[in-house]
Amino acid sequence: MLYKDIIKELTHIVGKENITTSKEDLICYSYDATNQKFLPDAVVFPKNADEISLILKLANKEGFHVVPRGAGSGFSGGSLPVEGGVVVSLERMNKIMKIDADNLIAIVEPGVVTGELQWAVEDLGLFYPPDPSSLKFCTIGGNVAECAGGPRAVKYGVTKDYVLGLEVVLPTGEIVNTGTQTLKGVVGYDLTKLMVGSEGTLGIVTKIILKLLPLPEATKTILAVFSDMRDAAATVSRIISSRIIPSTLEFMDKNSISCVDDYANMGLPADVEALLLIEVDGDRELIEKQAEGIKKICLDNMAREVRVAGDKREVKQLWQIRRAISPSLAKLKPNKINEDIVVPRSKIPDAIIGVREIAKKYNLTNANFGHAGDGNIHVNIMIDKHVPEGFNQGSDKAEFLRAEKAVKEIFELVLGLGGTISGEHGIGISKMPYIGMELSPTAIDVMKKIKQVLDPKGVLNPGKIFPTL
Ligand SMILES: Cc1cc2nc3c(=O)[nH]c(=O)nc-3n(C[C@H](O)[C@H](O)[C@H](O)COP(=O)(O)OP(=O)(O)OC[C@H]3O[C@@H](n4cnc5c(N)ncnc54)[C@H](O)[C@@H]3O)c2cc1C
Repeated sequence: MLYKDIIKELTHIVGKENITTSKEDLICYSYDATNQKFLPDAVVFPKNADEISLILKLANKEGFHVVPRGAGSGFSGGSLPVEGGVVVSLERMNKIMKIDADNLIAIVEPGVVTGELQWAVEDLGLFYPPDPSSLKFCTIGGNVAECAGGPRAVKYGVTKDYVLGLEVVLPTGEIVNTGTQTLKGVVGYDLTKLMVGSEGTLGIVTKIILKLLPLPEATKTILAVFSDMRDAAATVSRIISSRIIPSTLEFMDKNSISCVDDYANMGLPADVEALLLIEVDGDRELIEKQAEGIKKICLDNMAREVRVAGDKREVKQLWQIRRAISPSLAKLKPNKINEDIVVPRSKIPDAIIGVREIAKKYNLTNANFGHAGDGNIHVNIMIDKHVPEGFNQGSDKAEFLRAEKAVKEIFELVLGLGGTISGEHGIGISKMPYIGMELSPTAIDVMKKIKQVLDPKGVLNPGKIFPTL
């Protein structure tokens, strides 16, 4: 428990209306999309970097833990206060400070919701491409901390490709500015890149300078339906090797589709095994040609139906289907172990077939979907319950242990195919036991030393990424 005096000090820093210790409120900040729960001792809602600096200085003096939190939509437990302490919610720091159309940059506070930034820049004919499927509620700060990707990563890259500079409060409370407001800049080590993807363990991001692009003139959305998953997976490789880079190339397998079919009223035949949702964007004439090319590749690879969306309403409906998959998987089982593996695109069929075999071997329900265009597949092992260490809960426990074994085998498969165990969700607590499967002891040691230098007392977001520190 935090001492009364610490709460008093924190209240003094943020004001009494911006701190809570009530049980009901703490519960709201105790979970993320992993569905695991760890109660903080207090939640504070600072309004600027200076307040966060004072909070971290106090944490170093008094020895309590501080955990940054955006919208809590993370899939790896990064925002969970696993060792208690104070959650710093960035939700009040939600201003778009500047959109500079002349220099194609935006400057935002971390609590800005990703979708709101996208819509604001689109109104000015500009484009911020990173589009995690959670864009209607996740924050730019959380995107920076996780280096979030999304469907458009296949053509436009991920969050790190758009972050030019940051204001960060270091774990010791100093405020540092990294990077530039210009497209180029190579003065000193690249601290911006170090911070992006550091999962809230190296600093709290308080301001973000983002690169923007001109909004593409037009888009075209295509849905291809397959009776055999292997044909769909092979189509992904064929599209990429044909030198057409779509702006999105999303894959959904039969179990994923079955969860959203009723919801979206798509009227798909019952024996559909896989769908590809493909979008091209850019010059109007060019995308007509590209769409025709993609349609032909799909049909040549045994697509049984290819639909090109006729109007905006149809496009919206197709994307609603895609974005509904993740939440609607609960129809299969209430909980999921959600991995976001990446393999070289030509290996997607091997990866999906291998994952299915592993799920079958351990008698587990599995659904796969995701950003096939960049080889990033969300592999979901559906389970009744997450059973924490030390709990014995009969059949739930047995299923959970089988799922853990399956996950390890899936990672072995992925690494054997030349892939990586996480494309965009990060390590957090979920993948912590497996980090040594991909990184060498030397690489882990270098990372731990960086953490040690920046956070000598280990106050910021402890218990994440590395099994022991
Ligand atoms: C339905 C659904 C779909 C999703 N789709 C995608 C997808 O397509 N692509 C993708 O990449 N992810 C996806 N995600 C995962 C998640 O939305 C992203 O990881 C997102 O970036 C998290 O943002 P958040 O604001 O919710 O951060 P949180 O979950 O609150 O925090 C995530 C991490 O960031 C840290 N953090 C948050 N704010 C700051 C800050 N200001 N400074 C420093 N550290 C900070 C936290 O400590 C934590 O470690 C999805 C999640 C859901 C629930």
